[in-house]
Amino acid sequence: MKSYPILILLPLMILSSGCNEQYKQLASEKKAQNIILLIGDGMGLAQASTAFYFQEEEPSFVRFPVIGLHRNPPSDALITDSAAGATAFSTGYKSYNAAIGVDKDSISRETILEIAARQGKSTGLIATSSITHATPASFFAHVTHRSLEEDIASQLAGSPVDFFAGGGLQFFTQREDGANYLDTLSAQGFVVNTQKLERPGHLSLNSKYGYLLAPEGMPKMQEGRGDFLPQATQLALDYLSQDKHGFFLMVEGSQIDWGGHDNDSEYVIQEVRDFDKAIGIALDFAEKDGNTLVIVTADHETGGMSLSAAKVRMQSDYRHIQPTFSTGGHSASLIPVYAFGPGAGKFMGIYQNNEIFGKMLRAFRLK
Ligand code: MG
Ligand code: ZN
Repeated sequence: MKSYPILILLPLMILSSGCNEQYKQLASEKKAQNIILLIGDGMGLAQASTAFYFQEEEPSFVRFPVIGLHRNPPSDALITDSAAGATAFSTGYKSYNAAIGVDKDSISRETILEIAARQGKSTGLIATSSITHATPASFFAHVTHRSLEEDIASQLAGSPVDFFAGGGLQFFTQREDGANYLDTLSAQGFVVNTQKLERPGHLSLNSKYGYLLAPEGMPKMQEGRGDFLPQATQLALDYLSQDKHGFFLMVEGSQIDWGGHDNDSEYVIQEVRDFDKAIGIALDFAEKDGNTLVIVTADHETGGMSLSAAKVRMQSDYRHIQPTFSTGGHSASLIPVYAFGPGAGKFMGIYQNNEIFGKMLRAFRLK
């Protein structure tokens, strides 16, 4: 028998010497056919940690073999908003606060969703805000300011998005220009539902699907939103996974940020728990599929949230957590990135938020 070169044997020995599946996946440079990017808007480490203290179920976060941190200042400030944050992820460009899919000079830049579509993949966007809100908008629209939600809505039908679910109906139907963009969506091949997240009888790649289920943002969890986010995630995966060329899906837990702005810990806790369920759906799919990269991160932290000890007569009671906030706005903390699946290893370490774009492209083998 001939001896194998040591360079070939060594990695094989490492892989076969009792390492678990997660490390095997990390070591592999396998291409990701699909990417699911889940963004918890405003979800810093304290917000994510609420899943470890305020819910019965084991958090989905524990299933990630890779954690990194991103640095998130925009081009024109130290603290980012959601528009510049999402534009950094979607285009690879640091831009100014309020920028949607444009760089710091207001030049439109192709997004990861548009690139994936150009490569023949199917695409989806899900949010619990309006679908025209800064985070989802940054994946399909190109406008100079996030407040231009009617312009953003008018760009959706012509974009390569195949599936979307969220709120924002009023930006399509009650517009200053009097146009009805639901008609435009239908003309572009969308089956649009404005009533409920109903599974079509025949979920076919020959159709596109759009759900606009609230005038603006979806209701809070505390106001009965129910399982919209995990169910929409499952529905999108059932649809998109029919595409043999793969897919790109962005899922946003939009209202974690809103709870932070309100300094309302119960609002944050309920929204994180809901987002954690959607993460679980994505991971269940990726585990079975084996060709799907799942990335969870946030654009920034909101509220300067801290899981402080409860105060009793000026004393800290370490047996009880009473979350506190230090601001009604965003903060500058580095933000965790959690990754699973082929290409996950690229997300270790500390890097700029806009580098996440290139890491996704390389996982897709498009760069
Ligand atoms: Mg958002
Ligand atoms: Zn915010």
